[in-house]
Amino acid sequence: MDLDDIWGKAIDAIQEKIDNQTFELWFKPLKLIQLQDQQLTIETPNRFFKEWIEDHYIGLINEVIEKIIKRQVSIKFKISDKQQDATLRKVEAKLENRKARLASKGIFLNPKYTFDSFVEGHCNQFARAAAMAVANSPGKSYNPLFIYGGVGLGKTHLMNAIGNLVIDLVIDKVPGIKLLYASVEQFLNEFVYSMRNDKMNEFKGKYRDLDVLLIDDIQFIAGKTGTQDELFHTFNALYDSHKQIVFSSDRPPKDISPITERLRSRFGMGLIADIQAPDVETKVAILGKKSEMEGIKLPEDVIYLLADKVKSNIRELESCMIRLGAYSSISGSPITTEMAKEVLNDMMYEEKKALTVEFVQKTVCEYYGLKPHDIKARKRSRDIVFPRQVAMYLCKALTDTSLSEIGKGFGGKDHSTVIHACKQVEKRRSTDGDFSRKLDYLINKIKD
Ligand code: ADP
Ligand code: MG
Repeated sequence: MDLDDIWGKAIDAIQEKIDNQTFELWFKPLKLIQLQDQQLTIETPNRFFKEWIEDHYIGLINEVIEKIIKRQVSIKFKISDKQQDATLRKVEAKLENRKARLASKGIFLNPKYTFDSFVEGHCNQFARAAAMAVANSPGKSYNPLFIYGGVGLGKTHLMNAIGNLVIDLVIDKVPGIKLLYASVEQFLNEFVYSMRNDKMNEFKGKYRDLDVLLIDDIQFIAGKTGTQDELFHTFNALYDSHKQIVFSSDRPPKDISPITERLRSRFGMGLIADIQAPDVETKVAILGKKSEMEGIKLPEDVIYLLADKVKSNIRELESCMIRLGAYSSISGSPITTEMAKEVLNDMMYEEKKALTVEFVQKTVCEYYGLKPHDIKARKRSRDIVFPRQVAMYLCKALTDTSLSEIGKGFGGKDHSTVIHACKQVEKRRSTDGDFSRKLDYLINKIKD
């Protein structure tokens, strides 16, 4: 198979899995330009595409390609030389460089997430100041620092900013500084692996001999008793030798449950700092800064439109901007409020966040190419019955709606119909890998 064959097949498979609009916008302009051993290179027209695809679809592309060529690959993106403006290319190269240099020392940080690129507002002032203090004198100001706040509000950004600043301040003075940024999953996986493979000494050596430990999304430790115990001992070892520990979480320590009291009390021993939802000014400032960094020309009225429509999630705010940048780059027209309204139509529905039955129905219908009233009607044709069951299942899984309310939302069916639907979908999910992946895709799309 040559590259065109492989890509042709991949593109067909991808088209089946996602909705048409997404496909047309994001996948049409991509090109497979190289396949060497395990390394696959895809060319994107510009950096918006690179970022968007990396964030949203790398898993999907990976899966599809591996099926076609029957071996594992890792995917790299290359921005088309034609399109990339020279200044941005330089910035990009510098960031990649830093990332690689740190990675060679075993430090995995996102070089883009710095204090410089973090916009300060009322909502995050306190957390930012605390993070800054910690980065300036690790182990000496607040220990541990516990940062909490909702999804997409900048916790991961701040954690990385601490890491990046510590590195900048001390790397020359203390070349052997040991800093680790890890998600709690990574901690957990490594712990379980070490237990199973008799490598606990290595694990302890790695985590207890650090100068700075940054653990992201600590709330996921709830319920994992063994890992909690290990973290407790790791914490004590570091704390006793005055090494800095930073945790982030989507909720305050008191709401993480179930968790051992002794670990909970450790979380609160230093400083607890929260990040609140951003106000309009902060959102406007963030868009101003990011659009400049990304080289996107966002007129002021569009900035205000986005800041107004996207309520709190900054990640979503950025997504909107990147999407507009991509759209404008391929259509060749400047970004206007009309374009913004049109392109972002789907993304801006606030109901998305409330996760209503209607929103789930809408997403499932789009996916299967049905009209929302089909799914509510009494039609029993097979191509409607199954999508309807999928939609019911997802309503039960993802919304807070009761079974009988869900039934009502589907044209007055009763709760036993919903239970039956859930069972059917569950069964298929556990036996049909392909379907199970489609379902995961839908779940992500709805939650996104
Ligand atoms: P969380 O970890 O809280 O879910 P992230 O740190 O991943 O959120 O932030 C989501 C996105 O929003 C990131 O791209 C981040 O750079 C951006 N972001 C969040 N807060 C700010 C801010 N105050 N200034 C600039 N960018 C921000
Ligand atoms: Mg995060």
